Amino acid sequence: MTDCLFCRMVAGEIPTDVVHETERVLAFRDINPQAPTHVLVIPKEHHATVGALVTADPELLGDVVAGAHVVATQEGLVTDGGAEPGYRLVTNTGPQAGQSVHHVHLHVLGGRGLGWPPG
Ligand code: IMP
Repeated sequence: MTDCLFCRMVAGEIPTDVVHETERVLAFRDINPQAPTHVLVIPKEHHATVGALVTADPELLGDVVAGAHVVATQEGLVTDGGAEPGYRLVTNTGPQAGQSVHHVHLHVLGGRGLGWPPG
């Protein structure tokens, strides 16, 4: 999809601050970070939403979640439920949730206290 921002990043057409990459997954820092760690994890293949992805290729959704876990580990955020800092995964889906890029992505957010409920 040449008109998709994240497909263009996968293709290397746009400068991207990559923090993790596998054959099928790319993780890069958000251009407008909302926390000390704010990384987006995407499938390299284009799928618009998490629902479209899990329907077409549930294994690839697992790869994206695994990529988020690698990123959280690299950033020192992983917790086993104890006192370690922890992190949040967010997938905005559709206009009411504020999805602005229509290539599915997991936000990995951490490095500060995160309020609940979200806005
Ligand atoms: P959404 O609003 O949940 O769809 O998230 C899209 C995210 O993409 C936002 O957090 C944006 O800041 C981020 N974003 C938009 N353009 C770029 C870019 O060129 N590089 C990195 N992140 C971007």
